[in-house]
Amino acid sequence: MIEFKNVSKIYNINKSPFHALTDINLTIPDGAIIGILGKSGAGKSTLLRMVNGLITPSQGEILVDSRALHSLSEREQRFMRHTMGMVFQNFNLFQTKTVYQNIEIALKAIATPKSERKAKIEAVLEQVGLSSKIHSYPQQLSGGEKQRVGIARALITNPKYLLCDEMTSALDPKTAKEILDLLQIIHQQYRLTIIFITHQIEAVMHLCQEVILMEQGRVTHRSTTLDLFLHL
Ligand code: ADP
Ligand code: ADP
Repeated sequence: MIEFKNVSKIYNINKSPFHALTDINLTIPDGAIIGILGKSGAGKSTLLRMVNGLITPSQGEILVDSRALHSLSEREQRFMRHTMGMVFQNFNLFQTKTVYQNIEIALKAIATPKSERKAKIEAVLEQVGLSSKIHSYPQQLSGGEKQRVGIARALITNPKYLLCDEMTSALDPKTAKEILDLLQIIHQQYRLTIIFITHQIEAVMHLCQEVILMEQGRVTHRSTTLDLFLHL
């Protein structure tokens, strides 16, 4: 479970304070598949990067599985971060590495022995439907295929949380839908918690059970996706 308690984030821009997030209170239960919807600049990325400790709050606290992030030692923070997979809009793949090598990086980070890596990588590529591209380089892949690599890399460490940052925003609508369908299957299979930030309402409608709206650093609405749809 993820909890935000009175969380604010203030950035300093040319020495004047800018309130990127103001007084966020949120609980995201285990197994949820939740969309965080808002325009560019609403504070979504800042919020998502606080979940895995990449950004620290100016005020308030964040709890992951009932433990305050700021109370964790560096080692515990690293361990916690390994329970979270992250998927990005621009895929963040190393262009000079193959699909296999890109995914292997995540296994090296958690010190998986070399002898165990191949079988794990083959299995995750099968899961995302990309077995035939194992030795391809990112330039040889379509956008949808690159994002399947991104998902595979996030899943390979068996995360409890999947943090998705505009992951369908660079894809055409048909490809985006295929990626969302894949995420849904993964959610059903592994019961992980998915936090999906986006400015695309269609993506939330397609994927998420629940939706949070953000405007100018504040949460302005939370409901089931169906309720949001009925009130549009
Ligand atoms: P979103 O993901 O909804 O587009 P962000 O969390 O990226 O929103 O940004 C929220 C606001 O905070 C934006 O106005 C952005 O310019 C500002 N911001 C984000 N990161 C920084 C930073 N490192 N320094 C200063 N301002 C930032
Ligand atoms: P090898 O043991 O095969 O030489 P390395 O572990 O040295 O491989 O990694 C090779 C390259 O992969 C590094 O130079 C770095 O650019 C990249 N890399 C490896 N691990 C990570 C990581 N955790 N995060 C980002 N990049 C990484």
